[in-house]
Amino acid sequence: MSSIYELQCNECDFKQSFWSLYGAHFYRLTNDLEIPILIDTGWCDQCNKVVMAEKLLSTAEIESELERCGVGKKYALGWWGENGYWRSLRMSLLWSNKSLSREAYILAVQSIREWRKTRRCPPKCLSCSSVHVQSIPIESAFPHPRCSGLISCTEFFMASTVWDIKQYSAEGELIANAE
Ligand SMILES: [Zn+2]
Ligand SMILES: [Zn+2]
Repeated sequence: MSSIYELQCNECDFKQSFWSLYGAHFYRLTNDLEIPILIDTGWCDQCNKVVMAEKLLSTAEIESELERCGVGKKYALGWWGENGYWRSLRMSLLWSNKSLSREAYILAVQSIREWRKTRRCPPKCLSCSSVHVQSIPIESAFPHPRCSGLISCTEFFMASTVWDIKQYSAEGELIANAE
């Protein structure tokens, strides 16, 4: 799913059309497991515009999901129902494996826990890999980092589109020529 936003500063001539794409960015971890990237919107100093960036899951969020789906728990409740990151993980495991067992899901969440423990870099811009990216919820107006104006944002449609899947390393670097 994607949305298109028109961003405009009320003081300078800054204008940007911003496409947000969800479900197109994955980490390729060393064991060849593909893990969806939790997406944030932010201002990248290097790109000098609004970008999609990584949002790093907290250890507490990962532990809580492991607890929720752990042995002896009735994970069926909310298994497909709720939205958000964990649902997108289940969807991507299902698409790549054609089936999804509880064991496979727990293994994937454990791999995410291992990745998070060893991840060193702060969140990166998914376009240019800069770490100079500041999280911004673009649904409401925000100060333009390049002037004293405010950038307002209009979402003008959502579309289901076909897009290129992009793969990133565990440290958030784009892997070139990923299939
Ligand atoms: Zn401005
Ligand atoms: Zn950037």
